Amino acid sequence: MKPQITFYGGVNSVTGANFLFEAQGKKILIDCGLEQGGEGASLRNGKVFPYSPATIDFLFITHAHMDHIGLIPKLVKEGFTGRIFSTPETKEITRLMLEDAHRIMEYEARNGGESELYSLPDLERAISIWETIDYHKNMQIAPELSVVAKDAGHILGSAMYEFEYEKGERVLFTGDLGNSPSVLMPDTEFVDDVDYIVMESVYGDRNHESKGERDRRFRDEINSTIKKGGTILIPAFSLERTQTLLYELNELIESKAIDEVPVFLDSPLAISLTKIYKRMFLAFKKDVQTDINDGDEIFEFKGLKETPRADDSKSIASQPGPKIIIAGSGMSTAGRILHHEKRYLPDSNATVLITGYQSPGTLGRQIEEGAKEVEIEGSLIPVRARIVKIEGFSGHRDSDHLLEFVEKAADGPLKQVFVVMGEPKASQFLAQRINDYIGVKAICPEAGKTYVLK
Ligand SMILES: [Zn+2]
Repeated sequence: MKPQITFYGGVNSVTGANFLFEAQGKKILIDCGLEQGGEGASLRNGKVFPYSPATIDFLFITHAHMDHIGLIPKLVKEGFTGRIFSTPETKEITRLMLEDAHRIMEYEARNGGESELYSLPDLERAISIWETIDYHKNMQIAPELSVVAKDAGHILGSAMYEFEYEKGERVLFTGDLGNSPSVLMPDTEFVDDVDYIVMESVYGDRNHESKGERDRRFRDEINSTIKKGGTILIPAFSLERTQTLLYELNELIESKAIDEVPVFLDSPLAISLTKIYKRMFLAFKKDVQTDINDGDEIFEFKGLKETPRADDSKSIASQPGPKIIIAGSGMSTAGRILHHEKRYLPDSNATVLITGYQSPGTLGRQIEEGAKEVEIEGSLIPVRARIVKIEGFSGHRDSDHLLEFVEKAADGPLKQVFVVMGEPKASQFLAQRINDYIGVKAICPEAGKTYVLK
């Protein structure tokens, strides 16, 4: 059989990454993610896999965001017994993320919602067959088939995987690519020795504001809300975005660029993940490691209050402003952010800072798009708070920098790019740019279709 890729997920959509690469008689899955946003997504997550999990030899995980890991225990439940690989950081974070997701599923199932996608023993079985791989260590997984992990610079432990499937022939799966330079992560590595790339395109049709612009807006929005005595509400992904925000707030407060106000980190998951970040800091970029070694507590500052317990979370509302609340989930689909949004969306002195991608169909997307009224847990809530979107906090490369990534690869033997993991117009726009500006063939593959690497 010729080497080939089938795109089972992450096509025409940012979420649900799931690609099957077949070569040298082996079946290799790259990522096994959850679809997020809207009712259609939960229906698709619940369906049986379109291939037999028992026939899969390997599963490689690029990084620990839910849209790349969310269905791993379900794959095991449906018969997968192969080997799982990721960086050590990704393995550790995944366990925490999936335990947390299971808690939410269990709660919802008990309250008449969808049934659980997997059980905790399924998750434990996945962890028990999970091996770790370090960056730049070439690993032979079959005769004539080897893999090497490179740093994607997206979140702690994020990797791209480069498979050599025939002498000198290689394919790269990017996972998500970092918005370098990041404050915490090393820069995304460039790659110039691959024939094919399967690459993300979340921001394929848009560019971010510069880091200087982002920092200025972040500071100014906080200062103007503090001046009004209002509340700054930041719906944030617990993984990476929260740690970046803590790092930036630490800098602003220590340099006195903003007043010292109470900052509530109101997410048990984010609190636990921040502990992992503190412990696994050797995966940070070099100058941040140096600061930490010199004694700088980069995620701690005066005024920061962690509220792991639900009671502490509820008492935040009785604290007078000004104050800052960081809570999940990042797209306002569940979690403590909902009770804060109920409380503060109607408050014209409050500001909601949106710092991440919002999937179509989510409450976060409605708020981002300027809805005047939203429904939260059955109640209609008027929106009078100031809504501010700061795209510079994105953990993803923007259109120009995705193009730059391909341009560097085009110095090598690059033949074709498969543009995936974006909304259709973002993916198509990026594919067109790659075709037009770099002269390398780029296509948006169809869902479920198999493409032979010639
Ligand atoms: Zn990601």
